[in-house]
Amino acid sequence: MADGCACDRHAHMYVSVEQALQRGLEVAPCIAETETLPLIDAIGRVLAEDCFSKVDLPAFDNSAMDGYAVRSGELIDGDVHHLTIAGRVAAGDSGAHEAPAGSALRILTGAPVPKGFDAVVMQEDCQITDGAIRFSRTPKPGQHIRRAGEDLSADAPLLAKGCEIGPREVAALAAAGYGTVTVRRKLKVTMFSTGSELREAGEELGPGQIYNSNRYMLRAMLDKPWIELTDAGPVKDDPEILEQVLRNACDTSDLIITTGGVSVGDEDHMPRLFEEIGGEIDVMKVAMKPGKPILFGRRGNALYVGLPGNPVSAYVTWQVIGSQIMASRAGLERKRPAPEQAVLAEPLQRHKGRQEYRPVRVDGVSPDGRPKLRLMAESYSGRVAMLAQADGLAVLPAELESMPAGQALEFLRL
Ligand code: AMP
Ligand code: MG
Repeated sequence: MADGCACDRHAHMYVSVEQALQRGLEVAPCIAETETLPLIDAIGRVLAEDCFSKVDLPAFDNSAMDGYAVRSGELIDGDVHHLTIAGRVAAGDSGAHEAPAGSALRILTGAPVPKGFDAVVMQEDCQITDGAIRFSRTPKPGQHIRRAGEDLSADAPLLAKGCEIGPREVAALAAAGYGTVTVRRKLKVTMFSTGSELREAGEELGPGQIYNSNRYMLRAMLDKPWIELTDAGPVKDDPEILEQVLRNACDTSDLIITTGGVSVGDEDHMPRLFEEIGGEIDVMKVAMKPGKPILFGRRGNALYVGLPGNPVSAYVTWQVIGSQIMASRAGLERKRPAPEQAVLAEPLQRHKGRQEYRPVRVDGVSPDGRPKLRLMAESYSGRVAMLAQADGLAVLPAELESMPAGQALEFLRL
């Protein structure tokens, strides 16, 4: 970059991964607007209300087995029991069945347990002859009965706001009586990749040209039901066009994500352009490898995350920092993924100074059951094929210089 390098002006913005993340989260308030949707349309969205069960779950005592409903008080322990079958109750029946003393009812899984009955004997434990059953083990009261409210009672807390409504959550909401649910409105995200060298997948490459892989990577990362995505396409390193696309994105989005053009080369225009259109930069450089140049900033309500151009750098900075800022902006309240504990399969030597996320393969397990990691390469920020072959990233603390084989370290499985 020529005179007035934004990076020099922002030299004080060299921060640790943790500081960058904290700063990013501070400036990423959750979008305020919500909408109420039919439950089926809320799948994959971010829940915006604390939810309490509207009903007892289950709503009535019901059979957990196919078998016979009995009144345990009628049975004398030690006897072989002999009861006539006085009727049949299946799932969906009202359960308003009556039966004379000394009889049983055929009952099927999910059927309501009729009044007065208090245990179910599995059909596998019964001999059935001429409309009667014989069984020897006396059931305890409550045996094979799912009690009303045993899963959750009415008004008890079910889900806290901030979760992603996945298969488990939507199933619980349906069971708890929710026909509609309030979710955050979709997060408006605009993405574009910068670089005059980029061609799209499948196109013919000219001299000096490369395939745009970041665009496809971002599309895959941003393919979420809670995102309204605008793909502004690849953009050449032409400051006028870049400025126009960036300004338009800032005017219309909650979050803008770009790749490339945030470093210190002559064609790295993004920091300067972002400031020229009135953006305020919060973080310029992070002491991390790969991915030292990464830019966060704000302009009005829009948050800007400029990822580095090297695909592995873009991927790692997105995983470690960018995706968490986006989640916070979208209203997701989730725990940060905890790294696994692993051991090194071979000794390590490195230059200290930056927290590193190095691609590794798992090569067996240690005697105490932890994955053994084999480091893939020392220099890898552009090696997108290697990234696809990695099992995960070894987390190497900033101050680490060497480590013998067998030493414990943290591992993010991909
Ligand atoms: P930059 O950060 O723009 O200087 O780019 C750093 C390196 O990443 C250069 O070698 C670029 O050619 C490469 N690069 C930038 N953008 C992409 C992309 N979208 N896909 C693949 N490689 C890229
Ligand atoms: Mg570039």
